[in-house]
Amino acid sequence: MSNLASRLWLWPAFMAMALGALVQPCHGTTKSSITDPAAFLSQAEALHRKDHPRFVQMLAQIHSEAPPLTAQEQWRLRYLDAWETMFEGNYIKSEAQLRNVIDHSGDAVLIAKASALLLSNLGVNQRYEEAFALANHLTSELPTINDPVARYSVLMNLSQILDFAGQIDLAIHYAQMMQDAMPPGESPCLPYSMQIAALYNGKRLTSASSILQQGIDACVGDHQPVITNSARLVLSNLYLDENQPAKTIALLDQVEPSIQLNHYYPHMLSSLVQRAEAYAKLGDDADAKKAALAAVALGHPGEISEWLMVAYDVLYKIEKQHGNAAAALDYYEHYASQDKSYYNDISARTMAYEMAQQHVLAQQLETEKLNKQNSILRLQQALSTKAMETSRLYIILLLLCLGFVVFWLLKLKRSQLRFKELSYLDGLTGIFNHQHFISEADHALRLLQKKTGSACLIFIDLDHFKQVNDTHGHAIGDTVLKHTITICKQHLRPTDLFGRLGGEEFGILLLECSRDQAIAIADRIRLAIEATPVDAEGSIITFSVSVGLASTDTSGYELQRLCREADAALYRAKRTGRNRVIVHGELVEA
Ligand code: GH3
Ligand code: MG
Ligand code: MG
Repeated sequence: MSNLASRLWLWPAFMAMALGALVQPCHGTTKSSITDPAAFLSQAEALHRKDHPRFVQMLAQIHSEAPPLTAQEQWRLRYLDAWETMFEGNYIKSEAQLRNVIDHSGDAVLIAKASALLLSNLGVNQRYEEAFALANHLTSELPTINDPVARYSVLMNLSQILDFAGQIDLAIHYAQMMQDAMPPGESPCLPYSMQIAALYNGKRLTSASSILQQGIDACVGDHQPVITNSARLVLSNLYLDENQPAKTIALLDQVEPSIQLNHYYPHMLSSLVQRAEAYAKLGDDADAKKAALAAVALGHPGEISEWLMVAYDVLYKIEKQHGNAAAALDYYEHYASQDKSYYNDISARTMAYEMAQQHVLAQQLETEKLNKQNSILRLQQALSTKAMETSRLYIILLLLCLGFVVFWLLKLKRSQLRFKELSYLDGLTGIFNHQHFISEADHALRLLQKKTGSACLIFIDLDHFKQVNDTHGHAIGDTVLKHTITICKQHLRPTDLFGRLGGEEFGILLLECSRDQAIAIADRIRLAIEATPVDAEGSIITFSVSVGLASTDTSGYELQRLCREADAALYRAKRTGRNRVIVHGELVEA
């Protein structure tokens, strides 16, 4: 065999599977009308590779019966139609059908299956740039394709196209993934054969590689004669590469009946060319020429293939050896033309792959840019959140300050009030001080004057208080003063005004109170004080008070006059023996 890289493998994988079914029996031909379209479609899809004639029959039936279909079922039918159109070799029509399913069905599983098929379609039509762009897209979609059949189909076609682009490692990788994700009912025949194809194209196989026999066994077991033959033809080609042409011939003889039966064109062509090369190596030029000519005759007009190139090479060398210059030149021209076209095709594939990769890289860069923009946005968001938190903190601090200020102001106000209150009150007894008593009494009398109500002013003075101080001490004197206040309060109403005029002298303004009522109150106070001694440090202190009284009824509402007359009455009370109440203008005996 020439040193040129050999491409024996089947293209597309889709065809390999379909052709594998050509020798399968056509299952039951009985036709019952369609009662469950969904089940019918599933059954048809299950058969499309295993029993193609039956599949065709079922497609025809569902179209002629036209049972009512849901939107999803209609899309499934369109996908199966596209599959059949492609099987029949109408690539342009099937591409349109597949793209319709991909763009409009909205069914993820159907989209994946149709995309895998479209990949095959594009590759077969040497539209490498589009094929590799789709392959890259499918690779990125792969993690989301969970339907076992769709996934298997995508993996197979990815392996095939990457193998085709010379990406051997990736092709093997996807073939191995196929093996790990076989849908129910599938055998390892296909995954093995995809691996064998990639390994072979990557020149990583020898005739002794165990995977070859494993693949052949799996495909024989799965009744896949076409794929079995592909693997066997790889083996026979390896014998050629390893300079064992006799083994090549022996194996080809063994495979020949099956190749003839299946009538698969790539196998018929490659087996002829291998024969030609093997015979040439064995020196059997006649058989070599016969096989090479048969291969050339089999080839389609205008076909570019490595096999034809090798066939022309064999023919050229034989003619040259036999001195047939004209024939040799003719074959050489064919050889050169095949060689050129073949390598143009290879470089087109490689370039297309490179371009698709460039697109992916550009997309990745774009994605990275977007990611960067996203992270900048996220950072900005985080910053504004922080700013918000900070301003919230400021607001809280401000509120705290405000709260503190309000609290402080209230406290100030309270202490001001307290101070004011204190400034009104007498420090020892807690009743109004002189000044405040006078001002309150004055105010009250003015109000009363308007109502022409009655009020009485009482002046109370403790009798011989100096003696109490002198005898018991100043502190006891204070106790006696407080005691006096307590007793007085017991006989007053909340509306009455009570103040300390100085020393041991107190004033009471009884509002809305007649002269007689006032006399009675004053006398009750006097009696109560007399009757309630103070118990101070063991010694009982009995004391009395003298009271002077003036009434608005006789003295009018002017405070000064009332004070003067109450004071005069008190003076009289003192003078007439103390411990008594004297009303201004008359004498009342206690
Ligand atoms: P009279 O019966 O004539 O009123 O005799 P008196 O001793 O009560 O009158 P005087 O005016 O001679 O004495 C009043 C005394 O009251 C003098 C003063 O020491 C005492 N005094 C005045 N204010 C206070 C005080 O706040 N506490 C004490 N313990 N004594 C006071
Ligand atoms: Mg006194
Ligand atoms: Mg006095």
